Amino acid sequence: MKVFKFGGASVKDSKSIKNVTRILKLKGYHDTIIVVSAMGKTTNALEFLIKDYMKGKSSYLTILEKIKDDHLKIINDLFKESDKSPYNDIIDLTKSLSSFLKMNKSKNHSFIYDQVVCFGELISTKIISFYLEMEGLKNHWLDVRNCIKTDSYYRNAGLNWKETQKLIKNETKNKITIVTQGFIASDTEGYSTTLGREGSDYTAAIFAFVLNATSLTIWKDVPGVLNADPRYFKKTQLLKKISYREAIELAYYGASVIHPKTLQPLQQKKIPLFVKSFENPHQEGTKVFESSQLDPLVPCFILKKNQILLELSTLDFSFIVEENISQIFSLMDKYKMRVEMIQNSAISFAVCINDRYGKLNNLVSELSLKFKVGVKENVSLHTIRHFNISSIQEIKGLGKKILLEQRTYKTAQFVLM
Ligand code: ADP
Ligand code: ASP
Ligand code: MG
Repeated sequence: MKVFKFGGASVKDSKSIKNVTRILKLKGYHDTIIVVSAMGKTTNALEFLIKDYMKGKSSYLTILEKIKDDHLKIINDLFKESDKSPYNDIIDLTKSLSSFLKMNKSKNHSFIYDQVVCFGELISTKIISFYLEMEGLKNHWLDVRNCIKTDSYYRNAGLNWKETQKLIKNETKNKITIVTQGFIASDTEGYSTTLGREGSDYTAAIFAFVLNATSLTIWKDVPGVLNADPRYFKKTQLLKKISYREAIELAYYGASVIHPKTLQPLQQKKIPLFVKSFENPHQEGTKVFESSQLDPLVPCFILKKNQILLELSTLDFSFIVEENISQIFSLMDKYKMRVEMIQNSAISFAVCINDRYGKLNNLVSELSLKFKVGVKENVSLHTIRHFNISSIQEIKGLGKKILLEQRTYKTAQFVLM
């Protein structure tokens, strides 16, 4: 059994979906779990819809219509009128989304978010499953919410491994090719939950783990894992081989090509992860497995934009001691800030954070009761794994102001403004 994951970029339009079919024919689709994301930027569009809906703006309906039309256009491109098409399923799915929004009484933003965004994946997998079938690739469409079970921590749900293992084994028994959704799951009450943005890689790793897959391949718009994000760096190099440990570090620091939660289940069972180009499926790409570090061993650059730097000091010029640090961290946890980097001196504490849920104002108000708080928004965090002198000069040469700098044996980090 092998697992393939196709992300948003690989299924963004009818041409891309045809390409997915080509890859499956080329690489084989028997004994395969195919995990698929929402098409293109659908999840972002659904987030805009939720924003308007929460503000009570009827414009959410226009966004919903646009999402529906975009998918219907893709159906139009892929299927002829005489074909068995997913048209009715897509109409039904958008109707159930629309009636959820009309009937909903909850004010819980995260709950509503998960009940809405799951439609992106449900719709995309319906279209792809029908298209594969039409192309002669027999498959079973699986609602992943029937087998991936989580707690009710909406938007970043925690997995119930025991229940999930049992259900995945049951739901996949005797099925040769399965098409299912990444990112989404359900709680004990049957409500939809999600595993965090870009979480489809993690879904694929869960299937690989439970079914003892021989490999997981994630198909991307890049040749594999590179030593820097090609959107921001002109010269990049393909990393051919990466150890699990190194890959976890890269993902943790923000190399967004692999979702950070993906690697741990794979590492536990020593299942290799391949990151390959959907444009050039013949190329080797990157292999993540039990190997030594990195091949080639080159500096790797990771950029995180839109970070916040907080500079805290005590109100009475006293030292920052353990008790203060513990208060600071408990507030970080309360507002679900991701702490990216910390540095402390006698009377000050600097922390670079990622405000994932828009709670900065609440955090700063609470911190201000105990500390003098300086806030710098929109800073960027640069990390270099395996840095050398020239890679550091490259960052310093960007001409930006260095607000914070830190080096360990293998990693250098800079907060720049
Ligand atoms: P999908 O959602 O389609 O699975 P993503 O957009 O999540 O794919 O991941 C692919 C993108 O990740 C690339 O287009 C690239 O811009 C970005 N990326 C960030 N860091 C790296 C890296 N180190 N190597 C390759 N791609 C990277
Ligand atoms: N569709 C979801 C997102 O865009 C999950 C994923 O693509 O991995 O975040
Ligand atoms: Mg994605």
